[in-house]
Amino acid sequence: MHMPNLKDAKIRTNKKVETKLASNLKSEKFKNKKYFIKTYGCQMNVHDSEEIKGIVENLGFSETINLEESDLVILNTCAIRENAHDKVFGFLGRVKHLKKDKSELIVCVGGCMPEQESVSNLLKEKYPFVNIVFGTHNINDLGKMILESSNKQNIEVYSVEGDIYEGMEYKRDSKYSAWVNIMYGCDKFCTYCIVPYTRGKQRSRKIEDILKEVQELKDKGYEEITLLGQNVNAYGKDLESDYGFAKLLEETAQIGISRIRFVTSHPWDFTDEMIDIIAKYDNIMPYIHLPLQSGSTNILRLMGRRYTKEEYINLYNKIKNRIPGVSITTDIIVGFPNETDEDFNETLEVVDKCKFDGAFTFIYSPREGTPAAKIKDNIDLKIKEERLQKLNEKINNYSLEHNKEYLGKKVKVLVIGASEKGEGKMCGYTETMKLVNISGAEKDLGKIIEVEITEAKSFSLDGNKVIKINN
Ligand code: SF4
Repeated sequence: MHMPNLKDAKIRTNKKVETKLASNLKSEKFKNKKYFIKTYGCQMNVHDSEEIKGIVENLGFSETINLEESDLVILNTCAIRENAHDKVFGFLGRVKHLKKDKSELIVCVGGCMPEQESVSNLLKEKYPFVNIVFGTHNINDLGKMILESSNKQNIEVYSVEGDIYEGMEYKRDSKYSAWVNIMYGCDKFCTYCIVPYTRGKQRSRKIEDILKEVQELKDKGYEEITLLGQNVNAYGKDLESDYGFAKLLEETAQIGISRIRFVTSHPWDFTDEMIDIIAKYDNIMPYIHLPLQSGSTNILRLMGRRYTKEEYINLYNKIKNRIPGVSITTDIIVGFPNETDEDFNETLEVVDKCKFDGAFTFIYSPREGTPAAKIKDNIDLKIKEERLQKLNEKINNYSLEHNKEYLGKKVKVLVIGASEKGEGKMCGYTETMKLVNISGAEKDLGKIIEVEITEAKSFSLDGNKVIKINN
């Protein structure tokens, strides 16, 4: 996407120095001040918000979950999901109201949405009360921008990626499960996807920086890490070495952290070496999210996905055969332009063959600036909704079938918090990423415990704690 009004990236030649400056920004000015942050979208954004929290807490702010008592509001936005776009502008209406009574309130909008020129322009013209607008490439500048904020709107969004910063202080949401970014951006350019335009081209972090971060997390007592990237298994393809994702996975496993996960994999980059490494190490979790998107080779071609229906099924079977007990989930889009009934039936056929453990399913809607948005969105919404419903019924049945296999079994669960079910129950995830509501685990937050499964539903399991296996 051409963004003539956005600034070119700054040339950052010494990232260590910049990072040091960023963490030295602590200011008396913001002592006892509070910030409110709202995050939209994917895990990448959730992890970016952990970085943003680190930056503003360095300035002296402390977090509040009460918008009304905040002195700084930050919206970390998403451009992938259409409803996230609407929600951001809806929420800004609330903030505008608040700012009428609190003129010193600092309002920041960042993340993927401002990377779209139309959004930046809209913020400039219709939302002048927003003090700071920043993009995905200059989160590191946020501290400085807040320090220098004034009533004049400051928009700093860069159309070109800058360096990768190391040594940032994250305020992680969890003390036992951590995200570890291994790369930024994506080079795949699937025709419907805005990510390569909002997040830029692929940039892998250096191996030694990633391994250092994982080691530090282990030393701090983290039980689980998730290696994070938009196309995580393309890791290293932009580095001047043969070091790829499989090798990184292996060296990460050797550090000895209890659980290693990774999202999101592209089938095209899934190598035999990766499968072997996952099978070899007990601490690499037997769970893979492998987006299918469509079961029709014709539609996959239009989507620019680089694999056929048959290639996907072959890969799926290879993973299932070589990694014992692996669970596989997927993403599927229905109603892509020109998707015929036959195309959709092919998707259902692949679902019947693969019997996924679960799936995130979406109705296609165009994203401005993507190649697919230039193709006429010619599938009636009613048809899209019918297809989605049919697909979801199938997915849910298979999900329930898989979950029933757990009945009466004892599984290891990392306890992550209180269950939404209430009744003093806790919840957590199995190695295969099944959500479990657990009785008798009130004191086990952050621990891996053994749980006997007593009930299976489509989206979760119920169980009782058996014994502690590590504390
Ligand atoms: S691989 Fe994923 S992030 Fe990259 S362009 Fe395709 S859908 Fe978007």
